[in-house]
Order: sequence, then C-alpha cells, then structure tokens
Amino acid sequence: MERTLISETPQSVGQIVKLKGWVNIRRDHGKLIFIDLRDRSGMIQMVIIPDKEEAYKVAKDVRNEFVIEVEGLVKQRPGGATKEGSATGGVEIEVEKMAVISQPEDVLPLDVSENDMNVNLDTLLNLRHLTLRNKKIKSIFKVYAEVINAYAKIMNREEFTEIKTPKILNSATEGGANFFKIKYFEKEAFLAQSPQFYKQAGAGIFERVFEIGTVFRAEPHFTTRHVNEYTSLDAEMAFIDGFEDVMDELEKVMKFMMESVNEHCREELAMFGAEILPVKSIPRIKLTEALSILEKEYGKKMEEVDIDAEGERMICEWARKNYDSDFVFLTHYPSAIRPFYSMPSADPQYTETFDLLFMGVEIASGGQRIHDYNQLISSIKKHKLNPDDFEHYLDIFKYGMPPHGGWGLGSERIVQKILGLGSIKEAILFPRDVKRLTP
Ligand code: ATP
Ligand code: MG
Repeated sequence: MERTLISETPQSVGQIVKLKGWVNIRRDHGKLIFIDLRDRSGMIQMVIIPDKEEAYKVAKDVRNEFVIEVEGLVKQRPGGATKEGSATGGVEIEVEKMAVISQPEDVLPLDVSENDMNVNLDTLLNLRHLTLRNKKIKSIFKVYAEVINAYAKIMNREEFTEIKTPKILNSATEGGANFFKIKYFEKEAFLAQSPQFYKQAGAGIFERVFEIGTVFRAEPHFTTRHVNEYTSLDAEMAFIDGFEDVMDELEKVMKFMMESVNEHCREELAMFGAEILPVKSIPRIKLTEALSILEKEYGKKMEEVDIDAEGERMICEWARKNYDSDFVFLTHYPSAIRPFYSMPSADPQYTETFDLLFMGVEIASGGQRIHDYNQLISSIKKHKLNPDDFEHYLDIFKYGMPPHGGWGLGSERIVQKILGLGSIKEAILFPRDVKRLTP
C-alpha cells in the first residue's frame, strides 16, 4: 500500500490508509491508547483498541518521537476539531496494523509535543535536533522558507539574474576588521563578509543580479540581532538614475515578500500572534531629519550624525504612528560612516545611501555606488585605504561600467521581526555566535 500523507486523510474517510511519521505524543485512556502522529504535512490522532491485538502490543511500547508506520481506517471524528496544538481535527485513524521503523536511543531530554515549550534560548539551541521538531518552532522555518522563496520569485520576475559568488577571498576587502581568517593551503585567506565586489562585477555583466548567500562576520557581538554567519539577500542593478531607483525596487520586493508570507503562512503567523501590515509606500527620511525627530519627540540626542539601535527603534515607532508603516528608509548617511564605494551626494559630506528599518531594526543597507574608475580611486584614498589593495575590484570599472546600486538585506532579521522572536538565533536552524559552534 502506498503511503498517504496526514493532510490527505480527510479525503479518505471510510478507507484504510498507510501513514508514516513520528509519534508526537502518546496518551492512555483506560484500555485505549491514543497517539498523535506527525508527518511533514500535519498531525492526526490515532486510536488503538485492545481488540487489534498485534497493533496493540506494538503500541504499548511506543513513546514520543518513535518513528512508526501504521495502517488504519480513516473515521470522521465526532465533534470535529480538537484543542489547538493536538491532532488535526475532522478525522482520526482507527489503527489496524502498527510497526516501529526507528526508536529513540535514550529517554528524551525534553518534551516537544506541546506547542509552547517554554525553554530558555540555550536549551532551545543545545537540543536543536529535537526542539526543531516542535510544531511551533518548526513553523518559524516555514516562514523563513517563504521569505527566501518570495525573494527569489520577485527578483526573477524583475529580471535579476541569480548568481553565486565566492565565499573564500584572497584579501580582507572593504578594509573592515570583521573578517574571519582561514588557512587556505599554504596561504591565508578570508571568509566573505559580503558579496559586494562580486555582485558589482555581476551588474557590469548582467545589469541586474541577485544572490542568496552566506556571509560571515567576525563581530564579537552579544545582541539579539547579530550572529556570525547569516544569509544575505543581495541585489545589484545597473542603469539607475539615482539611489531612489534602488529604494523603489527594494520597496517592491518587501511588498511582495510580506504579501507572500501573509498568503502562504497564515497558520504559522497565527501561532505567533503575528500580524503583517500591508506595505504601502515606505516613508523615506534623511538621517539628519530622523535625528532631529529623535531629539524633538524623544529627547534623544546623538553625539554624531549616526543612529544607534535605540534610535532605530524610536524612528520605527514614529513611522508606525505617523505613516502607519512598519518600514522606514533612512537616507543620506555621512560618507565617514559609509564604505568608500558609496556615491557621494551633491553635498559630498553625505552619500546616496540608505538603510531600511523594519519593526525597530535595520534590515538592509544599500545605495548607489561610484562607477567612475578615477573617482573610485580617489575615494579609496580619501578613506585612507590603498588602491593597490583593490586591483581586481578596480578592474570592474576599467572597461565601462554603468551607474548602479543595490542592497544587502538580512534574511533572518526579517523573520525575527515578523514573528516577534526574542533573538535572531531563533530564526536560524543552527546558529553560529561568538560562543556557539555546535550543534
Ligand atoms: P548592524 O549595524 O545592525 O550591525 P550593519 O550595518 O553592520 O548592521 P550591513 O553590513 O549593512 O550590516 O549588512 C546588511 C544587512 O545584513 C543588515 O541590515 C542586516 O539585516 C544584516 N546583518 C548585518 N550584520 C549581521 C549580523 N551580524 N547578523 C545578522 N544579520 C546581519
Ligand atoms: Mg548596515
């Protein structure tokens, strides 16, 4: 008999089906044994009565997380749906045959059958192989997958070519200190902390490129929004008239992404009590303007023309209040705090760059890049870097490069914010932080 998925059982009422999956929970009521079976498609309640002697004998030894195979009759359930978090309502299985496919080696260190597990972050991450099986925790990654999927879909639709760029680099480009050094045969090499240079090269070839790729940041952060390995949603586009074009495009992307999650992850959003506001036109305000709003309305004064995490939270609150928007663009960051490749504004103290904030945190940085070879060399020097170290990067601009710009968008922060997760690490299957390299 072919395997039936749990989600398909309502179409098979009155028939015998074969199911395979994990025992989410087993409960005994007098002589009856109840098992909630879990597979990739959902959960269903099964009942095993003593009359089915062989199945009953197997069921008596079955515990949570056993992998089993059953054959049984699909029956309409009296009363329909059950309490939230237990088996799928509507139908149940009256088991005829049962076999154990695989069983836990040990007593489970944790019960993952309840929707809300109430464990601390360390336990959640230490026992990741098990905790990820919990319905609610697993659902985070359904949302994550939707975010990634929607990004690829909209970028393709917008005629961006998907590329993959190298993650092992010869030098620590961009002059940052946040590179991991690795041993590369006889030499040393570095792990990419952004696909920046290669996606710009891509824009010089394909006009429009995007990448969904891993980036590594050797930042000794202990925050709720930083990890040392994350997945960046990058894009770069050529023949722009200005960095507004880049923001227009990113706005389109976020709108599509939020609509997709809303449409395809209803149950997941509901489990977290999450609500996604429709994305209209995203307000764009200059960083300097934002700073005076912070000062006037929140009594917060920044020492320099820059914004910190608290300021970002406040500006998002302000945008929500004044524009009914969970998103806000901050624009025109000072050149001193932007990379050397950033296009200067008419007032060269500032740059044609932006950050996109979402529900209190920065989720993307982007802007227009310098495309003129000589201008780039002088900007490298202005940033106290040596053009000789950028030989291969500069080659991109030697042979004709159109005006272009793009963004780097953190995928995990999006999911963290949508679902209201305390830490970004909850939105990563196996996160890497300063202290954590396992599991
Ligand atoms: P922050 O100021 O929050 O540390 P950043 O400005 O250093 O971020 P960028 O280099 O602009 O980060 O990277 C683009 C995007 O990548 C960020 O907006 C964010 O969404 C994501 N990102 C950056 N660093 C991390 C990190 N350490 N962990 C997770 N996501 C990150
Ligand atoms: Mg940034």
